[in-house]
Amino acid sequence: MKNDIKEILFTKEKIQSKVKEIGQQIEKDYAGKEMVVIGVLKGANVFLGDLIREINVPLYIDFMAVSSYGHSTETSGVVRILKDLDLEIEDKHVLIVEDIIDTGLTLKYITENLRSRKVASLKICTLLDKPSRRKCSLDIDYIGFDIPDEFIVGYGIDYAEKYRNLPYIATLKNEIYE
Ligand code: 5GP
Repeated sequence: MKNDIKEILFTKEKIQSKVKEIGQQIEKDYAGKEMVVIGVLKGANVFLGDLIREINVPLYIDFMAVSSYGHSTETSGVVRILKDLDLEIEDKHVLIVEDIIDTGLTLKYITENLRSRKVASLKICTLLDKPSRRKCSLDIDYIGFDIPDEFIVGYGIDYAEKYRNLPYIATLKNEIYE
C-alpha cells in the first residue's frame, strides 16, 4: 500500500492533535446538552471513533449511509439513503460528522433531511474541506483542515474501497487511477 502513495498531506500526529482540538471545542459548545453524533459511512467512521473519545459529554452515536461516490473520483450528484438512522432525533442536538466535504451536495441533502425531523439543533463537523469545489451553500461549524482540489485517501477515506486503514491522509500516484 505504501508504494501507492504520492504524498502524505497530514501525518498521524497532525491528525491526532487536530482531532483533539476539535473535540475540546465541541465539548465546550455542547456542555450541559445531550447530543447525538451522526457519522456518515463509511469514510467518517475512523474520524468519529477518535473524535468521540475527545468529547466528554453524554452522547449517542448513530450512522447514516448515502450514495455519493462509487468506484470513481467523480461525484454522481445523486444522493440516496442506503442506511437510515436507528435513533429518533426529534428535539435532539445533532452533530453530523463527515470525513470530507467536496461539492457539498451530499451534506446539503443530509442536513435538509435531518432538519425535517425537527431536531433541536444541527451542526456539521468535517475533518477535511475542499472549499474550492463547493456547488451549494453550506454552513460548516467545525473544520479540521482545508485542502486543495486533490483526491485524497487514508484515515477512513478510500479509493475503490482501499486505503481506509492508512493512519495518515495522502494522495495516490497517478498510475493507481489508470
Ligand atoms: P460531496 O457531496 O461533498 O461532493 O462529496 C462528499 C463525499 O465525497 C465524501 O464523503 C467522500 O466520500 C467523497 N469525496 C470527496 N472528496 C474526496 C476525496 O478527495 N477522496 C475520497 N476518497 N473521497 C472523496
